[in-house]
Amino acid sequence: MNSTFLFLGTGASAGVPVIGCGCAICSSDSPRNRRLRSSGLLKIGSKQFLIDVGPDFRQQALRFRIERLDGLLLTHTHYDHVGGIDELRIFNFRMKRPMPCLLSKDTLADLERRYYYLFKPNAEGATMSAQIEVNLIEEEFGTARFEGVSFDILTYLQSGMKVNGFRCGDFAYISDIRTFDEKKVFGALQGVKKLVLSALRRDPSPVQFTVDEAVAFAKRVGAETWLTHLSHTIDEGESLPAGIHLGYDGLEIKFTAQ
Ligand SMILES: [Zn+2]
Ligand SMILES: [Zn+2]
Repeated sequence: MNSTFLFLGTGASAGVPVIGCGCAICSSDSPRNRRLRSSGLLKIGSKQFLIDVGPDFRQQALRFRIERLDGLLLTHTHYDHVGGIDELRIFNFRMKRPMPCLLSKDTLADLERRYYYLFKPNAEGATMSAQIEVNLIEEEFGTARFEGVSFDILTYLQSGMKVNGFRCGDFAYISDIRTFDEKKVFGALQGVKKLVLSALRRDPSPVQFTVDEAVAFAKRVGAETWLTHLSHTIDEGESLPAGIHLGYDGLEIKFTAQ
């Protein structure tokens, strides 16, 4: 099945430009140096899935005319990935149902702490907050059937927090990866041809891959790769090896779902 992935945002947690920053990239006029918080839209057949719902989601939905969603895949609960969750309320109204959400037990437990009110039943007729329908990921590595589509699940760590990556056919989305089981992760990515992978900057980071670490990871997977979750130190013209590109907001790539 021909499918696409649309980059809704390719920025690090602060976005680019960074508030108050006068650096060359934050001051750049190039649209490719303006990055909303990391997120993407998977279109698989007639289905549309959102990966993460960061604080820029409202702007992304308006800009890319996202009018309906079949589900939300959550990688983890840091603010830059879930801060827009209340914006799903409008999709509840339009679709007259809670938003199906695929997430791990750890992600759910933390989401319940951060957004406790989403899990309280709304009073009759009241629609004060978004409603989500929980679809739990059962295993750290395995396959989850979600709204009629099969996703392979990967699990890795970012400063002690469990984060999920998702694979569909020959495409995989791996964001906010720092520590991982090489055998399991590279095993689960075997045969992937299109990879979206996070890379923060050139300098080392305790929580994200550098560009060089991401390039080494991508080469080991052997997939054409687009980097995302980029900070304001990375210019759109950054030179990268063949087959490795910078993602930018609005870029759409094709892949084959099973
Ligand atoms: Zn992040
Ligand atoms: Zn800057």
